[in-house]
Amino acid sequence: MTAASGAGGTGSAADGGVAFAQKLLTLLDEGSFSTSYKYALLLALIDCCTEYAGADGLAPTSVTTRQLATKVLELYWQQSVPFEADALLRQSGSGQAEIVTLVSRYRSGRRLDPLAPLGRCRADNPDGVGRLTAEIEWKLVEMPLPRLQRFGGRHDEFIYRIGWDETVRRSHWRDAATFPNIVLFVDGAAENLLRFAPLLRPLIKRQWAAMVAKCNRLATYELEAFLFGQERVDLTPVRGPLRDLQDGECFYCADRLTGAVDVDHFLPWARYPDNGMHNLVAAHRRCNNSKRDFLAAAAHVARWAGRLSPTSTAGGDLGAIARDLRWESHPQRTLATARALYLRLPPDAKLWNAPKDFVDADLRALAAALH
Ligand SMILES: [Zn+2]
Repeated sequence: MTAASGAGGTGSAADGGVAFAQKLLTLLDEGSFSTSYKYALLLALIDCCTEYAGADGLAPTSVTTRQLATKVLELYWQQSVPFEADALLRQSGSGQAEIVTLVSRYRSGRRLDPLAPLGRCRADNPDGVGRLTAEIEWKLVEMPLPRLQRFGGRHDEFIYRIGWDETVRRSHWRDAATFPNIVLFVDGAAENLLRFAPLLRPLIKRQWAAMVAKCNRLATYELEAFLFGQERVDLTPVRGPLRDLQDGECFYCADRLTGAVDVDHFLPWARYPDNGMHNLVAAHRRCNNSKRDFLAAAAHVARWAGRLSPTSTAGGDLGAIARDLRWESHPQRTLATARALYLRLPPDAKLWNAPKDFVDADLRALAAALH
């Protein structure tokens, strides 16, 4: 399932970008939703634009409802376990959001522990995860997709167009031959989502956490890590194999790995949540702590991109590690994400090279590394 990509409009007109951003802020403020679906759908749209970027890093022209449902499942996966004692967080002003109930039921039906990674469930139970994804897809089709762009008292299709409205029936959606399962981005919108992603992601997460805090009478600061934090997936199993793959050396400084060894998300989790095997590297804690949410410099990207190819030694080894551990692995998606993040950087962007050492983005070297 690959969305068409490439001609989503350049979105280069500054005015268009500003108008788009203003509408999106209005939508976040005013859109009337009693559940967290608005936030989930917006993040899923940004994720899909990132993940299905073309070879040139341009946003796709459309995504399918199934692709969106896959991302929405990933978002709710770690949120559908008890927060305290046995209580699920409520994600609705009245009762519980149905998607949370669906995911929670699936998890308890398979007696999954709270840290169980979704990637492993996909490997162990593809049919079950497929059915769950389909149920979530229907929820998106029925509710937030036709309603998201209604705000400020009117309907304004400034992000996407779809071929159905709120009166859609489940029987129609189930008929794959006639249901138009495409979410078509309006000109420039997908590119704008990518451009503004570094600002939109933290804003949407903050508002999502605030909404859940309100529904549950909790403090927002307690919730953001629970809802979105990377520490919710246990990376311990991959640490040893990654260290061996790197001959016991830190990915960034190439010094011997001694003392505390971290597993780092090469493409930072805050920029795009990717726990795929090919996005993980072993590094010194001091290197990892210094890199934080920064993008790494071109020299690192070139070495890292070499690990993405299934025909390279490292790429083959990473694939084998993922199979052994039943770890999620999608090098093509990880590469598309890297292109979406790196190939639209301005030339004066600063990239992390080493502790206390930032360098200008070498756009030519980046393009060559990610070609
Ligand atoms: Zn190091």
